[in-house]
Amino acid sequence: MKKKIAIIGAGISGLTLANLIKRNSDFEFMLYEKEESLSLDEGFGIQLATNSVSILNKIDFQKINSDNIFNPETIDFFSIKNEKICDLEIGKFNTDYSKYTTLKRSVLIEFLKDEIYTQHLRFGKRIKGVTELKGKILIKFDDNTNDLVDYVVAADGMFSNTRSFFEKKKSQPSFQKAIAVRLILKTKHNLNINEKNISLFMGSNLHLVIYPINKKNELNFVCIIRDNKYDPDNIDSLIEKTLLSQNPSFKDLFKNDIKSWPLYSSSKILPSSNKKVFYIGDAFNGFLPTLAQGAGQSIESAYELFNLIKDENLDASNVYFTKRLKRTKIIRRRSNFNFFAFHFSSSVMQRIRNFFLKFLVKRKSFISSYLGTVYKN
Ligand SMILES: Cc1cc2nc3c(=O)[nH]c(=O)nc-3n(C[C@H](O)[C@H](O)[C@H](O)COP(=O)(O)OP(=O)(O)OC[C@H]3O[C@@H](n4cnc5c(N)ncnc54)[C@H](O)[C@@H]3O)c2cc1C
Repeated sequence: MKKKIAIIGAGISGLTLANLIKRNSDFEFMLYEKEESLSLDEGFGIQLATNSVSILNKIDFQKINSDNIFNPETIDFFSIKNEKICDLEIGKFNTDYSKYTTLKRSVLIEFLKDEIYTQHLRFGKRIKGVTELKGKILIKFDDNTNDLVDYVVAADGMFSNTRSFFEKKKSQPSFQKAIAVRLILKTKHNLNINEKNISLFMGSNLHLVIYPINKKNELNFVCIIRDNKYDPDNIDSLIEKTLLSQNPSFKDLFKNDIKSWPLYSSSKILPSSNKKVFYIGDAFNGFLPTLAQGAGQSIESAYELFNLIKDENLDASNVYFTKRLKRTKIIRRRSNFNFFAFHFSSSVMQRIRNFFLKFLVKRKSFISSYLGTVYKN
């Protein structure tokens, strides 16, 4: 009998797993999403390093319309005053098959949904209860439908509700006392940047990143600002007080539509207590965005799990957790370190950081250990 898999959550991790199953196996599967449609929030940009692009290419990502993506080769580091510090060539990790890629999140979701939308995706589904039945799991949804499956894969994000049905140990993500503000730019305004590169500006208690997301000259702007609480009604004054006080020339950028959200990351990495239940993507661990690896790790975790299920590995639960834990710790350490180093408020510390940064970006051994380990997987 064919094994049946229920995937809970149609974000990047759930959709990637669904595509891998659909194209490379004959398992039965269904993707259950709580919303009534897919979140195709137009502007939000996403960076995919080679570790995730090489996996996406197994499901034909290389055939995506090249006008809708960009392949930046360099990160330019700036002070908040727009003075260049140094640059880092990320294109050196590219191969003919897999290149560092930036794009709109909506473009990635559109691509991932294509093969599975009609047959394998059900909307408006929230779990109401679960029961173990003859070695399988019976999932009951709150619209009174149910599904009897061999595996449950929770891909329902950092605040995974699926966890609460299977795990006694609770671990809530913690607010990182930081806020993300983002917008889409149609021009580089008065900034002295190369629009083909990723530009990273570091200021006191904040950093911001600008990068191209397609070949239509659109740029994604995201600014991470440290603040003790998130007050969506006061974002304009927060920007004024933090960013514009350090460099008023950014003011022009904020004429566009601003979106903001509080930054959380997972506090503990806990294993699944049930061998038939797996957590992928942010439901396994949510990272700070300072290494741009959240989506990448969602894709990687889906791929690792897919291989174990496909090979019918009897120890899949342990193997998956052990490998993912190791990988997560590496990414987490680097994301947390960047979060710390990008935001120094003391000018002495900023000068010391910039001195080391200039030195380190030219050291091949450092770059291949700090980024190569992440990008090569
Ligand atoms: C400011 C910022 C910038 C970022 N930039 C990058 C970047 O440049 N590169 C990068 O790689 N990553 C980036 N990330 C991270 C990345 O977006 C996430 O890590 C990634 O989207 C996680 O995917 P996911 O599928 O695990 O979860 P999600 O995207 O959260 O998807 C979860 C899905 O499950 C659904 N769901 C939730 N609860 C239930 C339920 N109970 N039942 C059914 N369905 C449910 C949700 O509606 C959603 O569709 C960034 C994050 C932030 C905050």
